[in-house]
Amino acid sequence: MTGFSFAQIRVVSCHPPLRCIMQGMRGKRLISALRKKSERYHPLVHVLLGLACAFTVIHFIPGANILKLIAVGVLGNLIPDVDHLLYFFLYGRKSEYAKIFKSHLKLREFRMALRFIKDNHKNNTGVYSHNILSLMLSIFLAWYLGESRDRAGFYVFFMSWSTHYIFDMFEDVLFFKKLNTNWFMRFNRVKKELTQK
Ligand SMILES: [Zn+2]
Repeated sequence: MTGFSFAQIRVVSCHPPLRCIMQGMRGKRLISALRKKSERYHPLVHVLLGLACAFTVIHFIPGANILKLIAVGVLGNLIPDVDHLLYFFLYGRKSEYAKIFKSHLKLREFRMALRFIKDNHKNNTGVYSHNILSLMLSIFLAWYLGESRDRAGFYVFFMSWSTHYIFDMFEDVLFFKKLNTNWFMRFNRVKKELTQK
């Protein structure tokens, strides 16, 4: 038998070269479209994830109060991003990212401030709470408190908290093809360019 290599298969399955380029472009366009949608609807996705957690838990614990679970679920998914405020006004206040955001606020350019966060929050790798240990802790608390106390409420709250981080990680992979360094407890390691429109 003659020599065999997987590289040969790849060449044969992606022929002619123009088709390969087109496929690549289509992939890139899809990712850029998804990225735009994700930037635009990021908070809404967090709300929907909170709702999904509430409805998942009520499915397994039918007697629970659904309205309470919805409130707890949405809260659990939004609370992790409160750390962005702590970053802006406390431990990250001297960063370029925080300074630009606050300069918009000072000039009462609230729309621009919001726009700036939407466009750049994925480039901020300095938010301390967004790391792998927080994810593990929130999963542990969902299991531990869910099992031992008010089951449904704790399950939903910390499950929702965990899915917040999981979604943020998914976005990193979607946008940058890898996780940001903050997930590995390496904060502000990579200087990313900020954009202003
Ligand atoms: Zn987040």
